Amino acid sequence: MVKRLIYADNAATTGISDEVLKEMLPYFQDNFANASTAYEIGQQAKAAIERARNKVAASIKSKPEEIFFTSGGSEADNWAIRGVAEKLLPQGKKHIVTSVFEHHAVLHTCEALEKRGYEATYLPVDSKGFVNPEDVRKAIRDDTALVSIMYANNEIGTIQPIEQIAAICHAKGVLFHTDAVQAVGNVNIDVRKQEIDLLSISGHKIHAQKGIGVLYVKKGLVLSNLLYGGGQERGKRPGTENVPAIAGLGRAMELAVSNLENKINEVTEKRNRILDGILAIPGTRLNGDREKRLPGNSNISIEGIEGESLLLLLDQVGICASSGSACTSGSLEPSHVLLAIGLKPELAHGSIRLSISQETTDEEITYILDNLREIIHKLRTMSPLWEETDE
Ligand SMILES: *Cc1c(COP(=O)(O)O)cnc(C)c1O
Repeated sequence: MVKRLIYADNAATTGISDEVLKEMLPYFQDNFANASTAYEIGQQAKAAIERARNKVAASIKSKPEEIFFTSGGSEADNWAIRGVAEKLLPQGKKHIVTSVFEHHAVLHTCEALEKRGYEATYLPVDSKGFVNPEDVRKAIRDDTALVSIMYANNEIGTIQPIEQIAAICHAKGVLFHTDAVQAVGNVNIDVRKQEIDLLSISGHKIHAQKGIGVLYVKKGLVLSNLLYGGGQERGKRPGTENVPAIAGLGRAMELAVSNLENKINEVTEKRNRILDGILAIPGTRLNGDREKRLPGNSNISIEGIEGESLLLLLDQVGICASSGSACTSGSLEPSHVLLAIGLKPELAHGSIRLSISQETTDEEITYILDNLREIIHKLRTMSPLWEETDE
């Protein structure tokens, strides 16, 4: 029998959609030209890049010249933070404000800057995973260069009060960056209206390729380069452009924001079925906020089980999900996000994240819930951590 595959880990990565692949294919073989060349096929490759730039810009309501292609979300985060920090250092600005539960692309960049003499404030989040805008106001100092707060959290899906935070930054004359990798295609983004100065996007979270991303940089803002080399991306980001990936990302952004309200409603409804189904099991609790939450994200702590064992058993029945441990690094450190919202390490270890997409079917959700109930029961029966009192 062919093993079923039910993919519920879209927050980790997504597959390339047919439409995105179609957009990419011509630039692998038919036209493989370097976009910096003067002949016709080179100019066609360049035109493909500029079409993609226009599409990305339109999808976040920016201008095309504010869009810079990078190697992904991590590079965009690194560049935003280091680019501002290094640029503003001569003005005596050496302080960055961020939160404790950012993606490591932000946290580790700030930590690296601290080792070089910069200072960073890591704001706490509340039990639902919200940054308090008033904490941002209090943290900003005369020497603050940048505030970087993620739009939506990749583990627990909490959507931050971005506009309020941005308004506070600007009232204090400080730049505002947001990692919107998880938010794109799930919330309405309007960089102008929301007063966002810098914003990071990653292709592979929205059905484009891995290794492509974008940093939006508000017009007039000059950042230090992260990389030096050729004149690509107006001299700000060198390297021969990855034309297929860029073309695909343009299409992916266009698709991500089309019919957005319908998509949000549809995915939220399916997601709620998952939440209600799991939360009906005794000894479970929701992580993150129920309302201000990414549509596809379910993150639940389950008492008396180990997330790693749960994932292995789910994998045996073809379900791909994530747990509350940084198992990718081979360590069993509980997630910094779950600890930040106040979970005890045991409960953080017993957490599961299911991130669905529009493609997830009702039948798949039934399959996920049936298997989860069975596996949780099985693991608890074997567990010394669990006393079956109320079942
Ligand atoms: C995936 C992710 C990133 C990293 O993006 P890459 O393209 O994989 O480098 C950064 N921030 C968040 C919130 C993410 O989910």
